[in-house]
Amino acid sequence: MRTFCGRANPTTGSMEWLEEGEDYDYHQEIARSRYADMLHDKDRNVKYYQGIRAAVSRVKERGEKAIVLDIGTGTGLLSMMAASAGADFCYAIEVFKPMANAAVKIVEKNGFSDKIKVINKHSTEVTVGPDGDMQCRANILVTELFDTELIGEGALPTYEHAHKYLVQEGCEAVPHRATVYVQLVESRRMWSWKKLFPVHVEAEDGEKILVPPSEMENCPGLPSVCDIQLNQMPSSDFSTLSDVVKMFSVDFSKPVQSASTCYRVQLEPVKSGKAQIVLSWWDIDMDPSGMINCSMAPYWVKPTSALQWRDHWMQCVYFLPREEPVLQGEKLYLTACRDEYSVWYNLQKARADEEEQKADVCVESPVCRCRAHLLWNRPRFGELNDQSRTRQYIKSLRKVLKTDSVCLCISDGSLLPVLAHYLGAKQVQCMQPSRIDLYHPHELMAGTNNLEDKIKIIEARPELLKPSHLKDKKISVLVGEPFFTTSLLPWHNLYFWYARTAVSSHLASNVTVLPQSASLHMMIVEFQDLWRIRSPCGICEGFDVRTMDDMIKDSLNFRESKEAEPHPLWEYPCKSLSEPQEVLTFDFTKTVPEHCLSTEGSVKLLRKGKSHGAVLWMEYHLTADISVSTGLVQLSNEKENCEWNPHCKQGVYFFSSVIESEILSDPTAVEYAMNFDTKTGEIAMDFKL
Ligand code: SAH
Ligand code: ZN
Repeated sequence: MRTFCGRANPTTGSMEWLEEGEDYDYHQEIARSRYADMLHDKDRNVKYYQGIRAAVSRVKERGEKAIVLDIGTGTGLLSMMAASAGADFCYAIEVFKPMANAAVKIVEKNGFSDKIKVINKHSTEVTVGPDGDMQCRANILVTELFDTELIGEGALPTYEHAHKYLVQEGCEAVPHRATVYVQLVESRRMWSWKKLFPVHVEAEDGEKILVPPSEMENCPGLPSVCDIQLNQMPSSDFSTLSDVVKMFSVDFSKPVQSASTCYRVQLEPVKSGKAQIVLSWWDIDMDPSGMINCSMAPYWVKPTSALQWRDHWMQCVYFLPREEPVLQGEKLYLTACRDEYSVWYNLQKARADEEEQKADVCVESPVCRCRAHLLWNRPRFGELNDQSRTRQYIKSLRKVLKTDSVCLCISDGSLLPVLAHYLGAKQVQCMQPSRIDLYHPHELMAGTNNLEDKIKIIEARPELLKPSHLKDKKISVLVGEPFFTTSLLPWHNLYFWYARTAVSSHLASNVTVLPQSASLHMMIVEFQDLWRIRSPCGICEGFDVRTMDDMIKDSLNFRESKEAEPHPLWEYPCKSLSEPQEVLTFDFTKTVPEHCLSTEGSVKLLRKGKSHGAVLWMEYHLTADISVSTGLVQLSNEKENCEWNPHCKQGVYFFSSVIESEILSDPTAVEYAMNFDTKTGEIAMDFKL
């Protein structure tokens, strides 16, 4: 089998399809999977076990044999719990072949081979009967098919099918029920992930304001879920307008309907404000009584109970189609609509004359009409709305632009061309090399801002730039944020350097390049929780899952072990164990060199803690004295806690073994070696602890 994997090439800014060995895909899947995180989720595991024990006893009390169907068995964990609890037989279904193989091994190692049959199929392919996969229908249905949005991994159609074909009527289900909760909030921070705020530019000839068109203001955006670690959102960043409300429940022990539907609840705001966002999470009751409850509620909902950290289930942020001013005590209806796989929300004011408004008109799934939501994803909206960042760019542009400047901007979906135009550059051109297919921001905003024909789009890739594109002028100012949608890791935005190199012959001899340089920074950290996703589990609730640990380790070693992975660290607190250190610099005033850029050194562990890994990020030096960081923005020295740029992902390199630093008088040193391969645009790194 040949596998082609899409990967952005950081030297060309575009997607390329590379042929990989047949194992590549599956190693990727395993190495980056959430299995480790689930196995570390103590709260989930304990409650599943309690729920399974209770369900097995109920069946036994009725004098029946306990026949379990475990859909999506993964490591086989829930089936092993059932077998230990006294189940007579378990059918463990797993569609992902490497996992099904692992489940067979794990089940065998734990001595349950006679009680558990692993079936490597999608549950909808499973047959029942004397010659079938299952001898008879099951009377206990166990699954863990939920994502942060509950239904995004296809739980509903899977349950619908299972009730029709695989389980008995009146079966027990673990979990028994799921309930989705919502809370209406106002939050400038989260709202800035959906809409563009006006941009103010102080120009020589007065203040200019870039205003998004009404189409963009009223656009419902995209249906894709926004799932985040809401527990990292400080309460000062939002204001709750309603109590927590139950939106809908699903009883998994009864036939489930997956067809699209709507749910409506009445709300009375506890405070007046601007309704913008619906925060949502769910809980599952493992038993019918609701005594065994596993909840994703964020910190402010049950402040006394200990929170279980997990990354496989978080919380959802839904954006209302438009901002709605609401008054304390007024009557509102919140509607949740869903199809088989996703949920979206609408808010209506209750009208006095229509007390019994019906929610039966299902509102269509959100579709972006303004095109901005296709151009910018949510973190990117947040970044463009970051006013202090914009000010840095304006300040530095003002320093380098002159009235006769011939300016070329190379970045995806950038506002820099508009800023350069407002600041008086005579000729402004732009290129968005990795998204040639998309509109440019100034086109989306041309009408309302009088920008028609003011900025010229060059629909060529940098290497195909011709003098005629530039009206036979040389570029005097070359700018970039830099930002490219194809970038995964921080240094992939160095594509700007490659583009700059490709257009070299068009640059004036005294050209200004903004940013003039970039630097790669690194710091050793101890994560509060993120370490769990890459850490072996060993024994889980008494079951030996080391086969899984080994499998993950193999997959990590297969290819990616010497690579960093991207994580938005504002969601994953860590403390610094070393000083931040600049490790490589990239001079944009010169072309990309032929040779690799390497560095070696050591970094001292100055504080007590566990070294889980290194964090890497880029800083861009716009001018000699103005820089922007896509990583660390502040280090509060006393608490060692780091504040990260909330709009960017940083690179995280997990160490294969953790060291505990103790002594402060003679600090341990971590040795590192980094190599920026100018041919591939990738950075290889190695650490010795
Ligand atoms: N039950 C395990 C793993 C849960 S992860 C545990 O709780 O630890 C969910 C697993 O279900 C994944 O391995 C996925 O491949 C599998 N899966 C999802 N839908 C499925 C379906 N309809 N049929 C078979 N396997 C499915
Ligand atoms: Zn839109």
